[in-house]
Amino acid sequence: MDKIKVLVVEDETSIRKFIAVNLNRSNFEVLEAEDGERALSLAKSLNPQVVILDVMLPGIDGFEVCMKLRKQNPQIIIIMLTARGEDMDKIMGLELGADDYMVKPFNPLELVARIRANLRRFQKQHSNNIYFKQIILDLEAKRLYKNEQEVDLTPTEFAILKLLMKNPGKTFSRNEIMNSVWGENYFGDLKTVDVHIRRMRGKIEDDPSNPQVIKTVWGFGYRLGEED
Ligand code: CA
Repeated sequence: MDKIKVLVVEDETSIRKFIAVNLNRSNFEVLEAEDGERALSLAKSLNPQVVILDVMLPGIDGFEVCMKLRKQNPQIIIIMLTARGEDMDKIMGLELGADDYMVKPFNPLELVARIRANLRRFQKQHSNNIYFKQIILDLEAKRLYKNEQEVDLTPTEFAILKLLMKNPGKTFSRNEIMNSVWGENYFGDLKTVDVHIRRMRGKIEDDPSNPQVIKTVWGFGYRLGEED
Protein backbone atom coordinates (compact mmCIF):
# COMPACT_ATOMS: atom_id res chain seq x y z
CA MET A 1 0.00 0.00 0.00
CA ASP A 2 1.12 3.54 -0.69
CA LYS A 3 2.30 5.49 2.28
CA ILE A 4 0.09 8.29 3.56
CA LYS A 5 1.60 11.66 2.63
CA VAL A 6 1.88 14.21 5.43
CA LEU A 7 2.97 17.79 4.83
CA VAL A 8 4.67 19.42 7.82
CA VAL A 9 4.58 23.23 7.76
CA GLU A 10 6.81 24.86 10.37
CA ASP A 11 9.48 27.56 10.01
CA GLU A 12 11.54 26.42 13.00
CA THR A 13 13.83 23.85 11.43
CA SER A 14 14.56 21.88 14.60
CA ILE A 15 10.87 21.39 15.36
CA ARG A 16 10.03 20.57 11.74
CA LYS A 17 12.82 17.99 11.52
CA PHE A 18 11.81 16.51 14.85
CA ILE A 19 8.24 16.01 13.63
CA ALA A 20 9.43 14.71 10.26
CA VAL A 21 11.73 12.10 11.81
CA ASN A 22 8.95 10.82 14.04
CA LEU A 23 6.38 10.65 11.25
CA ASN A 24 8.89 8.88 9.01
CA ARG A 25 9.49 6.36 11.73
CA SER A 26 5.73 5.77 11.92
CA ASN A 27 5.74 4.97 8.22
CA PHE A 28 4.33 8.18 6.80
CA GLU A 29 5.81 9.85 3.75
CA VAL A 30 6.81 13.32 4.94
CA LEU A 31 6.90 16.54 2.92
CA GLU A 32 8.29 19.68 4.52
CA ALA A 33 7.57 23.36 4.03
CA GLU A 34 9.12 26.24 5.95
CA ASP A 35 6.47 28.80 5.07
CA GLY A 36 2.90 29.17 3.88
CA GLU A 37 3.63 29.91 0.22
CA ARG A 38 5.69 26.77 -0.10
CA ALA A 39 3.05 24.77 1.78
CA LEU A 40 0.31 25.84 -0.63
CA SER A 41 2.35 25.02 -3.70
CA LEU A 42 3.47 21.63 -2.31
CA ALA A 43 -0.10 20.79 -1.33
CA LYS A 44 -1.20 21.55 -4.86
CA SER A 45 1.54 19.60 -6.65
CA LEU A 46 1.98 16.60 -4.34
CA ASN A 47 -1.49 16.28 -2.87
CA PRO A 48 -0.81 15.19 0.73
CA GLN A 49 -3.72 13.66 2.68
CA VAL A 50 -2.71 15.36 5.92
CA VAL A 51 -1.17 18.73 6.77
CA ILE A 52 0.46 19.54 10.10
CA LEU A 53 0.34 23.31 10.16
CA ASP A 54 2.00 25.66 12.62
CA VAL A 55 0.07 28.87 13.41
CA MET A 56 3.16 31.07 13.73
CA LEU A 57 4.74 31.31 10.30
CA PRO A 58 6.58 34.11 8.52
CA GLY A 59 4.57 35.77 5.74
CA ILE A 60 1.08 34.33 5.52
CA ASP A 61 0.27 32.89 8.93
CA GLY A 62 -1.10 29.44 9.66
CA PHE A 63 -4.68 30.65 9.89
CA GLU A 64 -4.64 32.03 6.38
CA VAL A 65 -2.79 29.00 5.03
CA CYS A 66 -5.45 26.81 6.63
CA MET A 67 -8.28 28.68 4.90
CA LYS A 68 -6.52 28.59 1.56
CA LEU A 69 -5.67 24.89 1.86
CA ARG A 70 -9.28 24.14 2.69
CA LYS A 71 -10.45 26.06 -0.36
CA GLN A 72 -7.85 24.38 -2.54
CA ASN A 73 -8.63 20.88 -1.27
CA PRO A 74 -11.81 20.36 0.78
CA GLN A 75 -10.80 16.74 1.50
CA ILE A 76 -7.46 17.46 3.14
CA ILE A 77 -7.02 16.78 6.87
CA ILE A 78 -5.54 19.79 8.67
CA ILE A 79 -4.05 19.53 12.16
CA MET A 80 -2.84 22.87 13.52
CA LEU A 81 0.01 23.41 15.94
CA THR A 82 -0.27 26.22 18.40
CA ALA A 83 1.76 27.49 21.31
CA ARG A 84 -1.07 29.58 22.64
CA GLY A 85 -4.15 28.01 24.17
CA GLU A 86 -6.34 30.95 23.23
CA ASP A 87 -6.08 30.13 19.53
CA MET A 88 -8.22 27.06 20.05
CA ASP A 89 -11.60 28.65 19.34
CA LYS A 90 -10.33 30.28 16.20
CA ILE A 91 -8.63 27.12 14.97
CA MET A 92 -11.67 24.93 15.40
CA GLY A 93 -13.99 27.65 14.12
CA LEU A 94 -15.90 27.01 10.97
CA GLU A 95 -14.36 29.72 8.85
CA LEU A 96 -10.91 28.16 9.24
CA GLY A 97 -11.96 24.56 8.86
CA ALA A 98 -9.10 22.82 10.70
CA ASP A 99 -9.85 19.24 11.75
CA ASP A 100 -7.79 19.17 14.92
CA TYR A 101 -5.05 21.01 16.78
CA MET A 102 -2.20 20.32 19.17
CA VAL A 103 -0.62 22.64 21.69
CA LYS A 104 3.18 22.82 21.64
CA PRO A 105 5.19 21.21 23.10
CA PHE A 106 3.63 17.81 22.46
CA ASN A 107 4.63 14.19 22.45
CA PRO A 108 5.32 13.12 18.84
CA LEU A 109 3.59 9.82 19.51
CA GLU A 110 0.47 11.74 20.37
CA LEU A 111 0.70 13.57 17.08
CA VAL A 112 0.92 10.22 15.28
CA ALA A 113 -2.11 8.98 17.22
CA ARG A 114 -4.05 12.13 16.27
CA ILE A 115 -3.16 11.74 12.60
CA ARG A 116 -4.33 8.12 12.65
CA ALA A 117 -7.55 9.00 14.47
CA ASN A 118 -8.35 11.73 11.94
CA LEU A 119 -7.59 9.40 9.04
CA ARG A 120 -9.91 6.77 10.49
CA ARG A 121 -12.67 9.30 10.94
CA PHE A 122 -12.16 10.49 7.38
CA GLN A 123 -12.26 6.95 6.00
CA LYS A 124 -15.44 6.23 7.90
CA GLN A 125 -17.10 9.33 6.53
CA HIS A 126 -16.05 8.65 2.97
CA SER A 127 -16.38 4.93 2.63
CA ASN A 128 -19.40 2.92 1.69
CA ASN A 129 -19.33 1.05 4.95
CA ILE A 130 -21.78 1.35 7.80
CA TYR A 131 -20.34 0.59 11.23
CA PHE A 132 -22.22 -0.60 14.28
CA LYS A 133 -20.63 -2.22 17.33
CA GLN A 134 -18.42 -5.03 15.93
CA ILE A 135 -20.32 -5.08 12.66
CA ILE A 136 -19.30 -3.60 9.33
CA LEU A 137 -21.80 -3.58 6.49
CA ASP A 138 -20.02 -3.11 3.17
CA LEU A 139 -22.66 -1.63 0.88
CA GLU A 140 -20.50 -1.84 -2.23
CA ALA A 141 -19.47 -5.47 -1.94
CA LYS A 142 -22.75 -6.44 -0.21
CA ARG A 143 -20.90 -8.16 2.56
CA LEU A 144 -21.17 -8.22 6.30
CA TYR A 145 -18.30 -8.59 8.73
CA LYS A 146 -18.53 -9.30 12.42
CA ASN A 147 -15.30 -9.11 14.42
CA GLU A 148 -13.43 -9.06 11.08
CA GLN A 149 -15.04 -12.37 10.04
CA GLU A 150 -17.36 -12.45 7.07
CA VAL A 151 -20.91 -13.56 7.86
CA ASP A 152 -23.08 -14.93 5.05
CA LEU A 153 -26.38 -13.11 4.72
CA THR A 154 -29.11 -13.71 2.18
CA PRO A 155 -29.98 -10.69 -0.02
CA THR A 156 -33.19 -10.24 1.99
CA GLU A 157 -31.36 -10.29 5.32
CA PHE A 158 -28.82 -7.86 3.93
CA ALA A 159 -31.56 -5.48 2.80
CA ILE A 160 -33.31 -5.56 6.18
CA LEU A 161 -30.10 -4.95 8.08
CA LYS A 162 -29.09 -2.14 5.73
CA LEU A 163 -32.44 -0.43 6.30
CA LEU A 164 -32.02 -0.60 10.08
CA MET A 165 -28.34 0.36 10.10
CA LYS A 166 -28.89 3.36 7.84
CA ASN A 167 -31.57 4.66 10.16
CA PRO A 168 -30.29 4.26 13.72
CA GLY A 169 -32.85 5.24 16.34
CA LYS A 170 -35.84 4.75 14.01
CA THR A 171 -38.34 1.97 14.70
CA PHE A 172 -39.72 0.28 11.59
CA SER A 173 -43.03 -1.56 11.53
CA ARG A 174 -43.13 -4.97 9.84
CA ASN A 175 -45.14 -3.30 7.12
CA GLU A 176 -42.51 -0.61 6.53
CA ILE A 177 -39.77 -3.23 6.42
CA MET A 178 -41.75 -5.29 3.96
CA ASN A 179 -42.44 -2.28 1.71
CA SER A 180 -38.84 -1.22 1.76
CA VAL A 181 -37.29 -4.64 1.18
CA TRP A 182 -39.83 -6.45 -1.00
CA GLY A 183 -41.43 -3.41 -2.64
CA GLU A 184 -44.81 -1.72 -2.30
CA ASN A 185 -46.59 -4.23 -4.49
CA TYR A 186 -45.66 -7.29 -2.51
CA PHE A 187 -48.44 -8.52 -0.27
CA GLY A 188 -46.87 -11.18 1.86
CA ASP A 189 -47.46 -12.37 5.37
CA LEU A 190 -45.90 -9.89 7.77
CA LYS A 191 -44.62 -12.82 9.82
CA THR A 192 -42.10 -13.38 7.02
CA VAL A 193 -40.24 -10.36 8.38
CA ASP A 194 -40.00 -12.01 11.81
CA VAL A 195 -38.69 -15.22 10.27
CA HIS A 196 -35.90 -13.42 8.42
CA ILE A 197 -34.96 -11.42 11.47
CA ARG A 198 -34.91 -14.48 13.69
CA ARG A 199 -32.63 -16.28 11.24
CA MET A 200 -30.37 -13.25 10.92
CA ARG A 201 -30.08 -12.89 14.69
CA GLY A 202 -28.71 -16.40 14.79
CA LYS A 203 -25.89 -15.22 12.54
CA ILE A 204 -25.04 -11.78 13.89
CA GLU A 205 -26.00 -11.62 17.56
CA ASP A 206 -23.66 -12.80 20.32
CA ASP A 207 -26.71 -14.10 22.15
CA PRO A 208 -29.75 -14.39 19.84
CA SER A 209 -32.06 -14.67 22.86
CA ASN A 210 -30.88 -11.25 24.04
CA PRO A 211 -30.34 -9.36 20.78
CA GLN A 212 -28.26 -6.17 20.84
CA VAL A 213 -28.05 -5.43 17.12
CA ILE A 214 -31.67 -5.81 16.03
CA LYS A 215 -34.02 -4.88 18.85
CA THR A 216 -37.68 -5.80 19.01
CA VAL A 217 -39.96 -2.90 19.88
CA TRP A 218 -43.03 -4.66 21.25
CA GLY A 219 -46.21 -3.66 19.51
CA PHE A 220 -44.31 -1.63 16.87
CA GLY A 221 -41.61 -3.54 15.06
CA TYR A 222 -37.82 -3.45 14.98
CA ARG A 223 -34.99 -1.00 15.31
CA LEU A 224 -31.21 -0.96 15.52
CA GLY A 225 -29.80 -1.30 19.06
CA GLU A 226 -27.82 1.40 20.82
CA GLU A 227 -24.11 2.01 20.24
CA ASP A 228 -21.92 0.85 23.14
CA1 CA B 1 6.58 28.54 13.83
